[in-house]
Amino acid sequence: MSHDHSHAHDAEERDTALRVKAIEGLLVAKGIVDPAALDAFVETYERRIGPRNGAAVVARAWTDPAFHARLMADATAAIAELGFQGMEGEHMRVVENSDDVHNMIVCTLCSCYPWPVLGLPPTWYKSAAYRARVVREPRAVLAEFGVHLPAGTAVRVWDSNADQRYMVLPRRPSGTDGLDAAALAALVTRDGMIGTALV
Ligand code: FE
Repeated sequence: MSHDHSHAHDAEERDTALRVKAIEGLLVAKGIVDPAALDAFVETYERRIGPRNGAAVVARAWTDPAFHARLMADATAAIAELGFQGMEGEHMRVVENSDDVHNMIVCTLCSCYPWPVLGLPPTWYKSAAYRARVVREPRAVLAEFGVHLPAGTAVRVWDSNADQRYMVLPRRPSGTDGLDAAALAALVTRDGMIGTALV
């Protein structure tokens, strides 16, 4: 897939969104498309196929030390063990949060994002403001997401591109020792795997 970063991405996206809305309105008005079916489709991509996959990867890494080691050594292969692979996820790297380091992901040029594990990127991820500011002032951006890190924690920002996609491995919350992988996965949010939330 060609990946031209030089075009006027934002303007084009606005234009496309307007056109899609107009077409959708027509199809629904004529009874050709059921809006509930459309909602289900969007829901599938935004919530079910997407971040739930990443959450399963995180929960497995929290509960299975051997998988964790494989995930850090070769994320693409380890993630594929769980059946998540394909377009926009061919070259994955997982970056792990700790006491010392908090990781965040961005695509400073447009909207590169690890589709197989996180689904489609949220609108703010594609915004010019996030793309520019997360690099310049990551702590200010984090504060706007309600995340306040100790001064001693370094913030590392990973710039995705057509060849390399990232996912953050959040820290396992304390008090979750008794939870199984499914219960742990339910705690993991999309933003936690982008790095704009702690879990
Ligand atoms: Fe990009």
